[in-house]
Amino acid sequence: MSNTPTGIHHLTAIAGAPQANVDFYAGLLGLRLVKKTVNFDDPSAYHLYYGDETGTPGSIVTFFYWPGHEARGRVGAGQSTAIVFSAPAASLGFWQERLQRHGVAVARHTRFGEEVVAFADPDGIRVEIVAVADDSRVGWRAHLDIPAVHALRGMHMAELTVRAAAPTETLLTGTMDYRLVKREGNRARFEAASGGGSGHYIDVIADASAAAGIGGTGTVHHIAWSVPDDATELVMQNRLHASGYNVSDVRDRNYFHSIYYRERGGILFEIATATPGFLVDEPVASLGAALKLPAQFERARSQLENILPPLQPARRYV
Ligand code: ZN
Repeated sequence: MSNTPTGIHHLTAIAGAPQANVDFYAGLLGLRLVKKTVNFDDPSAYHLYYGDETGTPGSIVTFFYWPGHEARGRVGAGQSTAIVFSAPAASLGFWQERLQRHGVAVARHTRFGEEVVAFADPDGIRVEIVAVADDSRVGWRAHLDIPAVHALRGMHMAELTVRAAAPTETLLTGTMDYRLVKREGNRARFEAASGGGSGHYIDVIADASAAAGIGGTGTVHHIAWSVPDDATELVMQNRLHASGYNVSDVRDRNYFHSIYYRERGGILFEIATATPGFLVDEPVASLGAALKLPAQFERARSQLENILPPLQPARRYV
C-alpha cells in the first residue's frame, strides 16, 4: 500500500451565482448535489459539493460562493485551469447534443488520443468531458433527464498550468510519488503511484507566457489529492515538511481531514482523507437537501441563513 496520494479527491472553484451553479452542475451535467454547507474558514460563504451518489473521492467538484463578493478572477498560471470529467466513449455525442440544445457552445478536440468536448460553465471556467474507454466508475445514475449509461463518472484528470514545469513535476514525481505517463507538446501527464487510470491523472501544462492567475469568481481555488486515512495524511505531512514545503496543520472538514500546501508553481494543494465521507450528518437518500453546518457554526444558523441566498432544486433541462 502506497503512503502517497491515490488520485484526485476534489477540486474547489469559486462561483459568482449559486443558483446558476446548481442548475449547471446538477441540472445540466447531472452531478448530484451531495452537500450544501458553508466554508469552514469563513461561514459567510456557501460551500456546495457535487459528485456521484455518495460523493466518492475523485467524483467531487465543489464551489465557494461569497455573497456580495462576485468580482471575477483571471484564469492563468498558478492555477488548476479546467474541470475535466470522464464519460463513456459512446456518450460524447449525447453530451455534445445535450449541451448545444441548451445553448452551451462546445468545441471538439483530441488530446493524448482521447476525444474531448470542451465548453464553459456559467462563470467561464473551462469544463471538459473526455471519452474514456477504460473507467469502471459509474457516476450518479439517478438523474431524471440523463440516461444512466451516459452519466459523468467523476473527474478524469487535474489540469495544472504553471510558467515553469520543473518545480511542479519534481514535487509530483518526488514527494507525491506520481509517475510520468506521457508528454504531448507542453503538456505532461502523470499518474498516481497506485495507478488507477482515469481519476488518478494530473496534467501539467508549462506556459512561460501565461499571465498569472488571479483568484475570484470563475477560477479554481485549490485542488485536493486523496489519501485513504489519517495515518497516510500524517506521513505526507512529514514528507512535505522534509521537502521544504510549508504545510498546514490537520484541519477537520467534517467529511474529511485536510492539510494544505502551495506547490512551487503557485497552486494551492490539499491532501484530504477518503473518510469519513458525506454520510456522517445526513442519510444517502437526502444528501444535499438541507443546509448542514458543523457544530461550531450551528449557533449562528439563523444569521447564516439570512446571509446566504436560498437555493431551489436544480432546474430541469429536458
Ligand atoms: Zn478542498
